[in-house]
Amino acid sequence: MVNMMPKPAASMQLPSDQNASGRTLGAEEIQLLSEAINSGTLTSTKGTFVKALERDFAELLGIKHAYACASGSAAVHVAIAAIDPEPGDEIITTSVTDMGALTPILYQGAIPVFADVDPTTWNVTAETIEQCISDRTKAIIVTHLFGNPCNMTEIMALAEARGIPVIEDTAQSFLATHNQQPVGAIGAIGCFSLQQGKHITTGEGGLVVTNDDALARRMYLYINKAWGYGDPKPDHYFLALNYRMTELQGAVACAQLTKLRGVVNKRRRLANRLTSLIRDLAGITPPQQDTRNAHVFWKYCLMVDSEVIPDGAVGLAKWLKENRGIFSAPRYIQKPAFRCAVFQDQRTFGSSRFPFTLARPEAVNYDEAKFPGTFQGLEHVLVLPWNESYTEEHVAYIAQSLKDAVAALSAA
Ligand SMILES: *Cc1c(COP(=O)(O)O)cnc(C)c1O
Repeated sequence: MVNMMPKPAASMQLPSDQNASGRTLGAEEIQLLSEAINSGTLTSTKGTFVKALERDFAELLGIKHAYACASGSAAVHVAIAAIDPEPGDEIITTSVTDMGALTPILYQGAIPVFADVDPTTWNVTAETIEQCISDRTKAIIVTHLFGNPCNMTEIMALAEARGIPVIEDTAQSFLATHNQQPVGAIGAIGCFSLQQGKHITTGEGGLVVTNDDALARRMYLYINKAWGYGDPKPDHYFLALNYRMTELQGAVACAQLTKLRGVVNKRRRLANRLTSLIRDLAGITPPQQDTRNAHVFWKYCLMVDSEVIPDGAVGLAKWLKENRGIFSAPRYIQKPAFRCAVFQDQRTFGSSRFPFTLARPEAVNYDEAKFPGTFQGLEHVLVLPWNESYTEEHVAYIAQSLKDAVAALSAA
């Protein structure tokens, strides 16, 4: 029915987080970067920029310790290594997240136990986590997906009652809050990413935070090959990697950090605007948020009703791309994380299948019936790219495109 489609509006190019159009990189970053280069000291063990970043970030979150590291994946690895699971211990995580939040569990010899998610927020909940707890549970990792916090009050109550530490994966949720508290500073450890597409970026990079002095010590050591810098008799105290951030990244991050509050406020304001424009549109539901949460809109996610829109999120994405040049992501990560070969086929170290060889059968049972929220959530999600560089016109263009898409598709 191609000839019945309305003519595309004068197409607009949306700013992208993959290049300068949608990034806040500029004179401030160049200034600090050239200072770093001129200093001739590019390692954080001797330089000043990474240390300044760590101090400023801790202050911003109101937390005692922050350490920079090589990536968000490294940040999660550092957090798990600090918790120090025994081989075969279980770490509860989510079935909808970035792979960088999952593989560190295996590298530390622990078993990821996937919790189901709420299909309306794509986040784990206290209820879905509780179903996964066993006497081998060593930690819980929650991902605040798309910038929207998990319901931490209930999750912390569950975890604290059992003495289980909570690691917060805050890669997508800089400055998001639950009950006025910044996420990342609620659980035992928070993990952030500075990868290209996050709220602020150094290309690759990460940060870990904690209020716990003993965990902080282990986190610092894990980033630094467990070498006891400054100790009277330093040694390599345990198995660890070099996960340091360079001064080049540190300099850029210091400048980026000064822009973070503005980035978050802008994304939130623009998202509220889009929500107000599409609130009454049949067949799509704007992002849901608990009244205790402040969402920071890493992405803007819709739920698409396939009863109203044929082919649901996939059909809507196709229409938006073909008719308006808007690139969105139906299904977000395509399939639940546990359906990836690394978990499904237990591809790890050589042919050993370690650490899966130590797993309780139930912990690695990925039967679809255990994950109704995950399958439903991925079926109806449409992830729209979101950016602080959008103007009112860009938002109006997205809203109008959605209206036109729904009209065209639901009439078909
Ligand atoms: C981006 C991301 C990571 C991994 O961060 P990298 O810096 O890409 O290694 C981990 N968890 C979540 C939720 C992410 O979005």
